[in-house]
Amino acid sequence: MAPTIASRGTVTVMDCFSCVRTARIGTLPPREVVGVDGHWRVAHAFDTSLPGWLVLVPRRHVTSVAELTDAEAAGLGPWLVGLSRALRAVTGCAKTYVVQLAEKEGFAHVHFHVVPRMPDLPPERRGPGVFGFLGLPEDRRVSDERQDALALALRAALGPA
Ligand SMILES: [Zn+2]
Repeated sequence: MAPTIASRGTVTVMDCFSCVRTARIGTLPPREVVGVDGHWRVAHAFDTSLPGWLVLVPRRHVTSVAELTDAEAAGLGPWLVGLSRALRAVTGCAKTYVVQLAEKEGFAHVHFHVVPRMPDLPPERRGPGVFGFLGLPEDRRVSDERQDALALALRAALGPA
């Protein structure tokens, strides 16, 4: 008998980058669980060269912000502000960018980028130009070890859940 697969549109939950990881939440490295509660999980972006680039994802497979439940929505603001404060404390960023697009193939699961905007960020990288730090090949990415170390520092800055 074929297994039942929950589906939204053309991408199944089992194929979803976020859902695959959330399903293994107890075994994930720090960089994949910078923070977590009943509705949200925070990961360090895996393919960025910018230390501290975070992604806030709902634990449920959701492809539109409009589909978030009231309970999920209630946690969204505190997470965005809390992560921004933690990034300021840990990275020394001047402020954060918060962006939700979810348009890339295979990444339709709602995800809020929370990006440290460093004081010395070159003008051409400010605003949407910051996405030049994302989607990079492996040799240009923040190393897994550095991501894990940042994740632990950010956890400490976030305080108890
Ligand atoms: Zn998903």
